[in-house]
Amino acid sequence: MKSKILKMFMLVSVMMLVIACGNKSQGGNKKYIIGTDTSFPPFEYKKDGKYTGIDIELLEAIGKLEGFEVEFKPMDFGGLIPALQSGQLDGVIAGASITEERKKTVDFSDPYYESGLVALVNKNNTNIKELKDLEGKRIVVKNGTAGAKFAEDNLKGKANIRVFEDSASTLKAVENNQADAAFEDYPVIAYTIKVNPNLNVKIGTEKLTSNDYGFMVKKGANQELLEKFNKGLKTLKENGEYQKIVDKYTK
Ligand code: GLN
Repeated sequence: MKSKILKMFMLVSVMMLVIACGNKSQGGNKKYIIGTDTSFPPFEYKKDGKYTGIDIELLEAIGKLEGFEVEFKPMDFGGLIPALQSGQLDGVIAGASITEERKKTVDFSDPYYESGLVALVNKNNTNIKELKDLEGKRIVVKNGTAGAKFAEDNLKGKANIRVFEDSASTLKAVENNQADAAFEDYPVIAYTIKVNPNLNVKIGTEKLTSNDYGFMVKKGANQELLEKFNKGLKTLKENGEYQKIVDKYTK
């Protein structure tokens, strides 16, 4: 009887130890759960079954400098901020634009990449060159993005706006002529066209907005992680590693 109780006690102790160490890596570093987009090249995308890209490499390099480990959880962009809010994620790196509206619910790091929106159109399209050309057209946007907000603010009631969950779907709709244009971040569509020149899309407009990407944590939470990000980013910029990572994906 006694030995049974002892065994139970030992089992429970081991289980508690396992739980307590759950957010520590083998090396003893803290491990953070980080949300990222499902496919947003060259920032995050799957290659040979593994996630890679500027966001992924940046955060991993910062973790190495600042002594933390990262577990990436890819999800549709629209789900990332809600998952931060509910505590499912410690942070998000997903080419997320720093906006005043988002600052109400998240804290952003220092800016790490300059971006902005363009409209992408079918290769055969000749009549979409600026924002006003989008009036009366079929527009597709990605849920929860700055592009979706831009469409809402500028074209609501003037164009037919449809919302998809990921960039691949908006691109496909334009390729197949199911939509006249999609809003996408310039560096993403420029890279996508560069590596897939046979895609049936092109950039139709000049940059319509300009903004910066930031790493996000829930407002008021995980400030320690935010500080580590900023500190690591600064070091990577100073030692040339930041530029090396960016060049690897954009040159
Ligand atoms: N930069 C855009 C935004 O923050 C799009 C990000 C994305 O699609 N991953 O809304």
